[in-house]
Amino acid sequence: ASTWSGVKQGPPDAILGITEAFKADSFSEKINLGVGAYRDDKGKPYVLPSVRTAEEKVVTSGLDKEYAGITGVPSFTKAAAVLAYGADSPVIKEDRVAITQSISGTGALRIGGAFLERFYPHGKAIYIPNPSWANHKAVFSDSGLEVKQYKYYNKDTIGLDFDGMIADLKSAPNQSIVLLHACAHNPTGIDPTPEQWKQISKVVKEKEHYPFFDMAYQGFASGDTDKDALPVRLFIEEGHGLILCQSFAKNMGLYGERVGAFSIVCDSAEEKKRVDSQIKILVRPLYSNPPVHGARIASEILNDPSLNKQWLGEVKGMADRIIEMRALLKKNLQELGSKHNWDHITNQIGMFAYTGLTSEQMDKLAKEHSVYATKDGRISVAGITSGNVKRLAESIFKVTG
Ligand code: PMP
Repeated sequence: ASTWSGVKQGPPDAILGITEAFKADSFSEKINLGVGAYRDDKGKPYVLPSVRTAEEKVVTSGLDKEYAGITGVPSFTKAAAVLAYGADSPVIKEDRVAITQSISGTGALRIGGAFLERFYPHGKAIYIPNPSWANHKAVFSDSGLEVKQYKYYNKDTIGLDFDGMIADLKSAPNQSIVLLHACAHNPTGIDPTPEQWKQISKVVKEKEHYPFFDMAYQGFASGDTDKDALPVRLFIEEGHGLILCQSFAKNMGLYGERVGAFSIVCDSAEEKKRVDSQIKILVRPLYSNPPVHGARIASEILNDPSLNKQWLGEVKGMADRIIEMRALLKKNLQELGSKHNWDHITNQIGMFAYTGLTSEQMDKLAKEHSVYATKDGRISVAGITSGNVKRLAESIFKVTG
């Protein structure tokens, strides 16, 4: 028998299946709301003008292609930490953030999983929200952690199950690791309010849990990078140590360049040095060192004051278009006379809307209306345009009655 005859066919990635079905559909007005990537109002991929300019600067500077160090491009990681924690943050002033460049957000999560598996001194379980980004479970279980869930979504209100979340955090064993989406929760688009974040912080502290923040959408939720970082900064203010994963896929549109950062907020500069040395020892056999091109682009944008200002405007432009499409979708549904309450569409934030549609209704959307998205009822609002929102609303109206 062949060496691999025992390898069974695995299931295809859910999103890839949707893309395939979308491609195979010949209807000219088909709509793809599956992929989690920003589209402009013409439905086209968008390269930020600030990214174009930064890239030209990188190319004309004639830098060589030598390896970066294990932790990447230092001007990038330094600026990434400032973007997340804030320029005046005590953790930066006191030099107690261990940070490394990562293969975008996913790579940051994977380093986090490996670090916890090797060094977290308490239980090796990580609690993730139910539901969460599908890859969280895979990343952390492949890292050797046990993945558990806490309540997050209330299907009756299509909103946050705050009481359930708090109760689950309280009943988890002390010193558990808790994954939190910093903003624009994927897939639900439902974030805790600032007041609720305070209460979450309090419970996490009482229980001595270890907070692990995934921030894949800084700036992309509200349009303001400082506002979106509020939970992370609040936790720091309240004295938590924490892990943070940053992605520049969405907020800089650098998807395929794989630009991200992984950091651990330590108690002291001395602790940071020890932690930093072990991050390097973990990364070296994983991929030696990260790619430089995208990080150089991000570094230009973060460090050049005028490019930075331009970029912040462009991030806001993307967030605003998404917020506008949410409002338009709801308005169109209401004008069609839908009896359902669609307030959740505008209450939610970020790339995704959790419509509350059942998997049968999502099937119908695809088969009868050529509208493609995941079966859990999640739609990528970034795929909605002023040109397709009317037909989308009509399709949703027809399948929801
Ligand atoms: N975390 C969450 C919650 C995400 O939604 C994503 C992207 N879909 C990521 C992490 C990581 O994405 P990337 O590796 O492209 O940065």
